[in-house]
Parts: sequence; structure tokens; C-alpha cells
Amino acid sequence: MVKPVNYQSDGTYQNLYEESIRNPKGFWARQANLIDWHKPFDKVLDDSKPPFAAWYVGGETNLCHNAVDRHLAEQGDKPALIFVSTEVDQERVYTFKQLHEEVQIAAAMLQKMGVQKGDRVLIYMPMIPEATFAMLACARIGAIHSVVFGGFASHSLASRIEDAQPKVIVSADAGSRGGKAVPYKPLLDEAIERSSYKPASVLMVNRGLVPFEAVTGRDQDYAKLHAELANAKVPVTWLKATDSSYILYTSGTTGKPKGVQRDVGGYAVALAASMKHIFMGEKGKTFFATSDIGWVVGHSYIVYGPLIAGMATVMYEGLPIRPDAGIWWKIVQDYQVSVLFSAPTAVRVLKKQDPAYLSKYDLSSLKALFLAGEPLDETTSDWISGAIGKPIVDNYWQTETGWPILAVQRGIEAMPGKLGSPGVPVFGFNVNVLDEDTAQPCKPNEKGVVAIEGPLPPGCMQTVWGDDERFVKTYWSSFKTRQVYSTFDWGIRDEDGYFFILGRTDDVINVAGHRLGTREIEESISSHPAVAEVAVVGVADSVKGQVAVGFAILKSSNVLDAAQAKTLEAEIMKVVDGQLGAVARPARVYFVNVLPKTRSGKLLRRSIQAVCEGRDPGDMTTIDDPTALDQIKGAMTPA
Ligand code: AMP
Repeated sequence: MVKPVNYQSDGTYQNLYEESIRNPKGFWARQANLIDWHKPFDKVLDDSKPPFAAWYVGGETNLCHNAVDRHLAEQGDKPALIFVSTEVDQERVYTFKQLHEEVQIAAAMLQKMGVQKGDRVLIYMPMIPEATFAMLACARIGAIHSVVFGGFASHSLASRIEDAQPKVIVSADAGSRGGKAVPYKPLLDEAIERSSYKPASVLMVNRGLVPFEAVTGRDQDYAKLHAELANAKVPVTWLKATDSSYILYTSGTTGKPKGVQRDVGGYAVALAASMKHIFMGEKGKTFFATSDIGWVVGHSYIVYGPLIAGMATVMYEGLPIRPDAGIWWKIVQDYQVSVLFSAPTAVRVLKKQDPAYLSKYDLSSLKALFLAGEPLDETTSDWISGAIGKPIVDNYWQTETGWPILAVQRGIEAMPGKLGSPGVPVFGFNVNVLDEDTAQPCKPNEKGVVAIEGPLPPGCMQTVWGDDERFVKTYWSSFKTRQVYSTFDWGIRDEDGYFFILGRTDDVINVAGHRLGTREIEESISSHPAVAEVAVVGVADSVKGQVAVGFAILKSSNVLDAAQAKTLEAEIMKVVDGQLGAVARPARVYFVNVLPKTRSGKLLRRSIQAVCEGRDPGDMTTIDDPTALDQIKGAMTPA
């Protein structure tokens, strides 16, 4: 076993950043000392086949070993996983030793069901400890997990089953939201039914929330197997640094979600480096990310990042305002949380509550509140920083990168932030704002596309699962003149080097920090028999950042009265709920006779969006039917 050496000499942000860009191999070789290696790597980076980048070639390590086993000697009896559920009123603390035991039992269960290195395991679960055990168990034995957000419904789930082809699915009877059970099993059964690929087994955690029928021969009971395998010892399988650790599906501009595929070694190092330099992580302290394991923040900063850093991690099942708006701060106080990580939407939800909750608890353990996932507006940032009196650190990244691209990296140096800006480039990311047409860097304060020069640093996606061509075509082909990774975000960089993000260049929208493809929602709405055509756009919302709004043309030319329109709108929403999940449900669906399109038939989504937000729709010389925008305006204006 190669042990980590003492890591020091970080210098200033400027030094560290410049070194990471000038000499990435040297820089990342040094960062690699932050984790344990079973076998040292021969080559820091193989970028002989751009835009693919293989980090730590020849090295062997394991994410589960780095997250759990390596802390046993020093911190075995210290908290590792803190589970708090205000939904089912439970709190449980697992020490590193207990986590180690649980993960081995879960790994033994998977092995018993035939799971081997490289096999996929789909995890469709609420925020319960067994979900973390399952993820770490996969990492331990080299199975590739694919966690699907519990808020997704059968259609979304089916497409992911079809694509990932998991040998086993781990699930539970139900989640819970606002004190009400949300059944998972019927959606799962329906998804398996829909998918042409069938998993061999389903491992069911029975929380006793909703009765369900087990499918004989396929469904296994977690508690029963747990009892059988209670003393299981499953050694870590050493994996190549370049092996795949997981697939996480994310929305893009087509209806088919992309499987973001991540490696083992690069991801472990990137997370360890980010915990140290960005998140000010300290061994033995507590990290609390309020996200969900179904999203990338959950992967990186509920499960792997904090544990790799030797921190306890809080897994919270519940709403930020239940039983009251003090719950997060109570958790901070009770578990001495040192770093809190959330999303602007959640803060905007809190802002509507009594501010007294924010001063009710002792927050002295808290060093900073990190916010990511969507633009952080100045009002929200000002309000929360005033209310809790702690630094607020915006950070910008994507499912694809797995960790922040832009941030004020307070673990290196307490650089000042700028309101409305997620900060400066993170070490390793050669970020630029490029002219959309020429791919040349924009001048300060000039709007362009936020792009990253290859090779991407460790931790970023290796490829699109099963589709290298799609990886290259989607992310690296935006500019004709050269191969650069596009984030699909508009942005500017000011004269001091701070970036500002100005929204997506594509048809992806961001609802409450959740990324949704408008095409997926359109496909779902179009499956309603009454709908001929539909356009879905993201419209600014004061709490959720954006909401989806649909404009549908019906097959029949009969004019609907208000009551009929309402009924049909409700029916359409039900279809979306059933197929994609409530998370993708549009806020409104309006009915129109014509949609704004160019003469060549391309939907003018940005013009629709502008009209919805009361902005100028821009140059309309290419529009086929100029009355179409009036219809959009008319539909949104109550009679
Ligand atoms: P996801 O892959 O779901 O994390 O979504 C990534 C997208 O969310 C980015 O491409 C941005 O459009 C947006 N985003 C994430 N973090 C921020 C941030 N701090 N500021 C502005 N937009 C953000």
C-alpha cells in the first residue's frame, strides 16, 4: 500500500492555479498524494487521443477504500454517516467502523446476486443510509453504480435501465415528502416492464411505509439478506484508476438523457483536492450537503468527497422548512457542522419564512455556506449572509465535471468574492469565455460561451456511457475552428478575472437547481392524445430560479372554454408526473393555435422565453407567422 505523504505548500491561489495550467502533470501528481494508492501510477496523464483524457494510468486504487477503510485506524469510532430524517423521525449515526461493516454486508448481498466488477447496479432510492451503503458497496467491488433520482417516474427510469443495463436494481418501498409516503415500487415495476432490458434481481429495502408485492424469483429482501450476511467480510477490489466508477444520467438537448461516466482514480483525487482547497474540509469535522444522492452534488459531496476527506457526512431526508425553517440550523448545531452546501433555491424558500429561525441555533461550528446549481442572485446572497453572518461561497459546475469549475477557493486563500459571480477558475480548469463564432477569447465584460480547454482535469466525465461519439459531438464540437469543451453556458469575465454566468446556450433549463431538458418535457406532453405540438421553455421564477412553461397546439381545432382548458392542463401535468416525475411538471401549460417558428420550421424558444419574461423577443425577421408571439403573450395574460 502506498500511503499519502504529507501534503503542504499550497501557496496563493494565483500560484496554484497557474501551476495547474502550466504544468498539469506535476500539479496533479502532487494532488494524487491526497489519497491512498494500491499501486502507483506510471503516467499522470494520457491525452494521446484528445479530447479523451486518461488520468493516473497504471495506478490502482479504490473509492470505497479511500472513503472508508483508510480512516478505520485513526477514526474508526468517529462518526462517518449521520442520517437525519424529519420525514420518518429518525436519527442514526454510523461510525467509520459501522459504515465499514454495513458496506461489506451490502457488497456481499450484491455479490450473492451475481454482481461482479464492471457490472452495473442501478440505485433508485430515497435518502436513506442503505443508498449510501449500496453506492460504496459498488465502489468496493468495482461494480458501476447508476443512481437515479427518486423523484423521477417510470418513463425516465425505464430509459436509464435500458441504457445502463443493470444486473441488479436496489430500491425501496417508498420515499417520503412532507410527511407523505411517495411509493417507489410501482414506478420501478412499471419501468422494468417498459424496458426491453430486464435486471436479474431487485434488492428491496422495506421501510414499512407502503405495502408492496415482491416479484417471486426477482425481488430480494434487504433485511433478510442483511441477517444472513451479517458478518460478511468483503475485501476491496483494487481497480485501475481509469476504470469506471459510476454513470449519472443528465439532461441535454435531446430527449435521451446522457450517461455521464466517471473514472475511479481521477475522481478520488479531484474530490480530495476540492475538499481541501475549495471546501475547507477538515478531517473529523462534519460536512452537510442538502442535495440528494440522485444528483451530482449528492455523489460528490454527500457520499464520496466528505468521506474521502475523513469527515462525517450528513444525509438529510426532509424539507428545509419542516418541522420548521430552523431544521438545517438545528442540524448544524447538533452535529457541529463545519461546512454547509446547498442551492440558492432552498435559500429563497427559507427567505419566505420567519428569519428568527436563523438566529435560534448556535452556528459557531459553521465556517461557510456553499451554494451551487443555479445562479445566485445578489438579493438572496446578501440576505443569507446577513442572516447567518458567515461567508457565502457561490460555486459553478456541472454533472459532467463532477466538481467546481469556478469558485472562490477559500481553502487556498480568502480571496474576496464578487456579488453575482461564482468566482474565478478552479485549479485544473483552463476556463475561458469564447466568441460563439470565432472561438477566440472575448474581451473583458464581453458575452461569450464559457468553455474549457482540454484535457479536462481529473474527476470530469470520461465519456458518455456507451457512446464515445456522442461525447465528442456533444461537448467538443461547438466551435468549428478548434476542439474545446463547451459548458453550454453564456458568461462574461470581468477585468479582474471573475466570471458571471448568464444562462444556457441550449435548451436545458434549471428548475430549483435541477437540470431538465425541455425536449424531454415536450416529448412527454406530446404523448397526450389531444396534443399535436408543444414548445416548453424555462421562465424566470422568484423562488425556483426557473420553471417550465408549455405552449401546446391541440389536434382538434375546437376552441376550449376556461374550464375545459383547466381540465386538459391538469391531465397533461398528470402525464408528465407519471412519465418523468413531478420534478419535471410544467408550472403551466397554455393552449395556442400556432407556435413561433422560423420559416425553416425551427422553434423560436428564446423568443417565446423572452415574451414570457416580458423582454424584447429580438430580431423577428425570420419568424414565419408574426402573430404567433402575440398568441403566446395573449395566452399568458388572464382574460
Ligand atoms: P447540473 O449538471 O444539473 O449541475 O447543471 C449544471 C448547470 O447548472 C450549469 O451548466 C449552469 O447552467 C447551472 N449552474 C450550476 N451552478 C451554477 C452557478 N453557481 N451559477 C450559475 N449557474 C450555475
